[in-house]
Amino acid sequence: MTDASAPADQVFLRRHNLAMVLRDLRDAGPRSRARIAADTGLNKATVSSLVAELAELGLVRDGDVERGGGVGRPGQTVEIDGRICGLGAEVNVDYVAVLVLDLRGEELSYVRTPLDVPRLGVEKTLDELAAAIAAAVDDAAAKGHEVAGITVGIPGMVETAPGVLRHAPNIGWREVRIADELAARLAGPGATIRVDNDANLSALAEYAVGTSAGTADLVYVTGETGVGGGIISDGVLLRGTEGYGGEIGHMPIGDPAHRCGCGKLGCWEASVGLAALLREVADKDDPVTDPSVDLEVRLAEMRRRAALGDGRTLRGIEAVGTSLGLGAAILVNLFNPRVIVLGGYFAALGEFFLPAMETELDKRVVAPARGGCRIELSALGFTAACRGGAHVALEAVFTDPAAVGMAAASSIPSPLPGGVA
Ligand SMILES: [Zn+2]
Repeated sequence: MTDASAPADQVFLRRHNLAMVLRDLRDAGPRSRARIAADTGLNKATVSSLVAELAELGLVRDGDVERGGGVGRPGQTVEIDGRICGLGAEVNVDYVAVLVLDLRGEELSYVRTPLDVPRLGVEKTLDELAAAIAAAVDDAAAKGHEVAGITVGIPGMVETAPGVLRHAPNIGWREVRIADELAARLAGPGATIRVDNDANLSALAEYAVGTSAGTADLVYVTGETGVGGGIISDGVLLRGTEGYGGEIGHMPIGDPAHRCGCGKLGCWEASVGLAALLREVADKDDPVTDPSVDLEVRLAEMRRRAALGDGRTLRGIEAVGTSLGLGAAILVNLFNPRVIVLGGYFAALGEFFLPAMETELDKRVVAPARGGCRIELSALGFTAACRGGAHVALEAVFTDPAAVGMAAASSIPSPLPGGVA
């Protein structure tokens, strides 16, 4: 373990090296200590000592024996141990959800609980969310895992450092200390709790494991009741000065006849959010507009109608697709992304949106050939925000593995979380 009497710069260097070895195993896969030394430039004795410390923290374990092609002793490989987990949670308009990933990136559990969040209000929704998180933590513990960090996605403007939600118009929440409120409800040894905007987390999930994973210039646009965005530019999530960047749903390019959840007229969200589509494709008594029916069931019905060539459904989707293309063109002109990933209901009905959207995009983007931007439908479905949250929690372990030991040693909820870098 780290020597408490060692000079600060040596402690820092050791923690940095622990992270380097752990990330090498994540990025390059199981390998011998000798290969880790070659990958990282550290000497073999140092690597052996770092691996021993990571094993003590429960982050790595012995893997298979590696048989080289040439002469020499076969090496015992080291691999990432999946014992430590990250938990991602999400509050949305009509559900709360919790997803647990282990350090190897494997999904342990995903549970979505339908809830009428605006009606239930802050206190009861957070009670439900805390219960869902506690159940997932217990389930992980029963399988021999330990949750090291929790990240909660909220559809609104979040100040990440103190974990405070400023305003979430579509669920009607203002000034909620989400991290504090959850910590108070989750008794016992505390995993660090972080809070972030749900679309930011979804963008990070796409960047980590989506179809275009690793694409350094990626814009994520999601359609649900609200319309959210996450912008990754040169590999970094753009947050802005106070963390409120990416509120693309409120670009004033929508139909001025319709009021947005934020109270203003003519936001993009009022023209492409789920309510706008439902207004176009269905009458008020149509079951696809019934919020008590699971959204995926309603989307499946709209897909069925579109596939059968129902005129009203197709005209509605085309109108929304054109508005979608208009906003997307602004994003392409501003950020020149390699890919725009469509999430939420845009992905579910994507193939029907794309023709109108791409026509508008081609008309409006200034750069030739759309500046090399392609449009893609998210394969992560409605799990994206949770998945991104779990990845953010795990990323903290890969950034500072030694902190896992410190969190485990603490018997009270962790102090207020830091923001996601
Ligand atoms: Zn608005």
